[in-house]
Amino acid sequence: MLSRDPFRLLITPTGIDKGKLHVHQLLIVDQNAEVVQGNLRPSAETWLHIPIVEETGADVVLHTHSSWNTLASLTPAPAFQISGFEMLKGLSGVTTHEHRETIPILENSQDIPALSRVLRQTLRDQPEVHAVLLRGHGLYTWGCDIFEAQRHLEVLEFLFELTWRGRNLEA
Ligand SMILES: [Zn+2]
Repeated sequence: MLSRDPFRLLITPTGIDKGKLHVHQLLIVDQNAEVVQGNLRPSAETWLHIPIVEETGADVVLHTHSSWNTLASLTPAPAFQISGFEMLKGLSGVTTHEHRETIPILENSQDIPALSRVLRQTLRDQPEVHAVLLRGHGLYTWGCDIFEAQRHLEVLEFLFELTWRGRNLEA
C-alpha cells in the first residue's frame, strides 16, 4: 500500500516469473484495479488484494500457492481450524497457545469480481482473521508491513503442515 487517499497499491504484473521480476515492472493501481503507473497488466487477483487492504487496514498482502496451504484449503468445511500450538503466538494479537485460529475457506471462482465481494463480506463478518484460503488455490495473508505479513505467512505454513500431519497421530 503506497497511499490510501488517493488509493495507490503497488502490485506485481501478471505473466512474469516473480523470481525474474524487476522493480521497474511493478505496477501501481487504484481502488478500481486500474493501472495508474506501469506498462504491464495487473493480475486478475488484484481484485482480491483490494478488499483486503481496505477491510483489514493491512499495508502488505501476500498470496501463495504452497502444497500445504492448498491441501488445507481442501478441508470439507467453511474454515480451517488450528489450535494447540505455541507458534499461534506468531499471529499478531494472539497471546496464548490456547487460541483457536479460524482461516475461512472461500470457494474458488474465475468470477473474480464476485469472489472479491465474497471476500470483502467475509472480512467484515470476521475481522479477527489473519488469512483466508481459496479452495484448491492457495492462501492470502497480510500485515501492517512486509515483516508482519511474512511472519504470518511463515507461521501459517508451519501450522498448516503440523495440523495436517498431526491428523495421522489420531489414527
Ligand atoms: Zn493465485
